[in-house]
Amino acid sequence: MSETIFSKIIRKEIPADIVFENEKVLAFSDIRPQAPIHVLIIPKIEIATVSELNGKLHAELLGEMIDAANKIAADKGIDKSGFRLLFNCKDDGGQEVYHLHLHLLGGRKMNWPPG
Ligand code: AMP
Repeated sequence: MSETIFSKIIRKEIPADIVFENEKVLAFSDIRPQAPIHVLIIPKIEIATVSELNGKLHAELLGEMIDAANKIAADKGIDKSGFRLLFNCKDDGGQEVYHLHLHLLGGRKMNWPPG
């Protein structure tokens, strides 16, 4: 896959509001937040989109991403009120950046169905 802006954020070549980081994942505030809390959780390895994931191969990485989301939700005080986690996949899913990212949205009531 070709590199995206998120690779530059991983390498700290461009600034981001980083809220969590470990060896495998990085999380930072979305630059165009759709909710009072909107964080993107990304793997440090380059995977373009969710349809490239393999459950067995990427189980540990996905677990790390979920653990990070739960930690960030607790840190931001939305673990009790709730939140939404989502992957946008390709054109119809509304994906703009082709580096896998898990959206964490919270701090307001989410609508369903989504737009
Ligand atoms: P998606 O539409 O699922 O691909 O989401 C991509 C997200 O990345 C959007 O919500 C953008 O606002 C966000 N985004 C793009 N560039 C940056 C950046 N430099 N820093 C933080 N968030 C970004």
